[in-house]
Amino acid sequence: MNYKIVNIRTTASVDPVDSILIIYTGGTFGMAFDEAGALAPFNFGRVIDRLPELRGLELKITVISFPEPRDSSNINAQDWEDIAYIIYENYSQYDGFVILHGTDTMAYSASALSYMLDGLNKPVIFTGAQIPIGSIRSDARENLITAIEIASAKKGGVPVVNEVCIYFNYFLLRGNRSQKIRSSTFAAFQSQNYPYLAESGIEIEYRDNYMKPHDPKAKLKLRKGFDDNVAILKIFPGITQNTVEGFFKIKNLRGVVLETYGSGNTMNFPWFIKAMQKALKKGVVIFNVSQCSGGEVIQGRYETSKRLNDIGIMGGGDITTEAAITKLMFLLHNEKDIEKLKRKLVTPINGEMDG
Ligand code: ASP
Repeated sequence: MNYKIVNIRTTASVDPVDSILIIYTGGTFGMAFDEAGALAPFNFGRVIDRLPELRGLELKITVISFPEPRDSSNINAQDWEDIAYIIYENYSQYDGFVILHGTDTMAYSASALSYMLDGLNKPVIFTGAQIPIGSIRSDARENLITAIEIASAKKGGVPVVNEVCIYFNYFLLRGNRSQKIRSSTFAAFQSQNYPYLAESGIEIEYRDNYMKPHDPKAKLKLRKGFDDNVAILKIFPGITQNTVEGFFKIKNLRGVVLETYGSGNTMNFPWFIKAMQKALKKGVVIFNVSQCSGGEVIQGRYETSKRLNDIGIMGGGDITTEAAITKLMFLLHNEKDIEKLKRKLVTPINGEMDG
């Protein structure tokens, strides 16, 4: 790919020691209205013009921009691989990484990256904005400047943050625990099942006891590959046999996130159980995730989830749908033994679920 690289010349009198790599993928952050009146991304050169503060930071900042910045609705697994590869290739040269990304699929991308960057020992901070940088009331400036500060924070010479996170609207969240829950206020993200990692006020207050600790021995390994032969089946009262059976006929289907009610309950009509048994027999992996963002799947708590255990559906515990579908895609590509894959599915890779 033809990445554009921009080195931001700072106004600091001595050469800064610490360095940050920003990867600009697109998103509302750098959008403007096109001729038709719709928001579309523009290139990072124009973004820098609107952020003169970047030049005043005591940091070496490099920006690598996607050749065609995009709305994150168009982000796919190849983009996750590209972002991870850029981080991997530049890992030793920078103290931290900031990914500018649209909010719509940020939680999916952050989850995917958390699985790919095994042994991560530096901050990878996703951020974006609800209002473009060019608008007076934009949240872009605060989000980016604080994300950079977090990505460069050190204590005792080692990074404070050692994992993939989302920083948005004053809160730092674990990336693979986050979900976009609001499209019309600045507080776009939440992490219902895991406490926030830091809050930005006058100071940035880090909550060390919830963060992944720095491991001096860890070495970054890049784990690649996603299988996109997956789908999400969200159940609802009245879903028909025709719909469910049609869904499981999807060509090459290998994995399904089954979005169930409450603590993992589904209708237990015989036709529904039979449709899933048939798919399981063909080798399709089914991962049960709750439609509730808070709480966890406990298969067997109710009669309506007990059968799921018996037939071999994997309970997703307190994982989000975003972390679950990316995990399924990742494991389907990286683990060929189906029994091992199922075990890995219910075991945390990088803090995405309780162990
Ligand atoms: N549609 C935009 C995107 O995800 C929304 C945003 O960035 O806030 O790219």
